[in-house]
Amino acid sequence: MQRQTKKKKLKKGRIFGGIFVLLTFIFLCVLAVNKLQSQGTKETTSSNKPAVSSPKSENKKSDLPEAHQSDWNLILVNRAHPKEELSPHLTTVAGVQVDSRIAEALEKFLGAAQAIDPSEHLISAYRSVAYQEQLFNGYVEREMAGAAGSLNNTGQPISREEAENNVKTYSQPAGSSEHQTGLAVDISTVDALNQSPKDVVAELRKIAPNYGFILRFPEGGKSSTGVDYEDWHFRYVGIDNAKYMAKHNLTLEEYLKLLPQ
Ligand SMILES: [Zn+2]
Repeated sequence: MQRQTKKKKLKKGRIFGGIFVLLTFIFLCVLAVNKLQSQGTKETTSSNKPAVSSPKSENKKSDLPEAHQSDWNLILVNRAHPKEELSPHLTTVAGVQVDSRIAEALEKFLGAAQAIDPSEHLISAYRSVAYQEQLFNGYVEREMAGAAGSLNNTGQPISREEAENNVKTYSQPAGSSEHQTGLAVDISTVDALNQSPKDVVAELRKIAPNYGFILRFPEGGKSSTGVDYEDWHFRYVGIDNAKYMAKHNLTLEEYLKLLPQ
């Protein structure tokens, strides 16, 4: 009888022990699941954080214009995106040719620029791919010969490859210049690049978005545009796009990344 009770007690003990182990196991499982869930929440929060705090994407959704990468006024032409001859419909404004869709905006922009400094004038606008090729090759010849006014201003000849590398710092190869769009203009107080007074350029840059233009190659923009600072090259993108890009300090390449196709 005593042995039986002992056995029973032993059995009972084992059952309770088993239940205790089982409950502990369940408890640990619940703890583990909770921990995983809270880590998941943390990860979601932290991955959202940079987008929210990044100055460039601030208010991105609230004031981003309803534009598309495929809009005619946002066409991208650069060394990574060369284009065949685009042959836009052209109109003449103050001695240069532009896409007729921007003629009115350019007349107003030029007028406003001349109110800032009367010597502001248009130097160049539409250039066909064929003409750009002529221009580029002419610069290459000049560099190869070591001519005055070139970067290789030594009188000593250099190779075509070296010459082309020199030219690429101030002129785009045919097909890679956005002058072929008819939407880009060079405007300055003087006929030389980066020689206009800085305060005049700053004022011009400030008013440009009111007419749909942006300074296309700003200082510090080379990492996205691939082109060094140019104080005279303005590009028409439309008023809403230009204002957004100016407000958020974006180049065309950076702005296009925010837009749907
Ligand atoms: Zn230009």
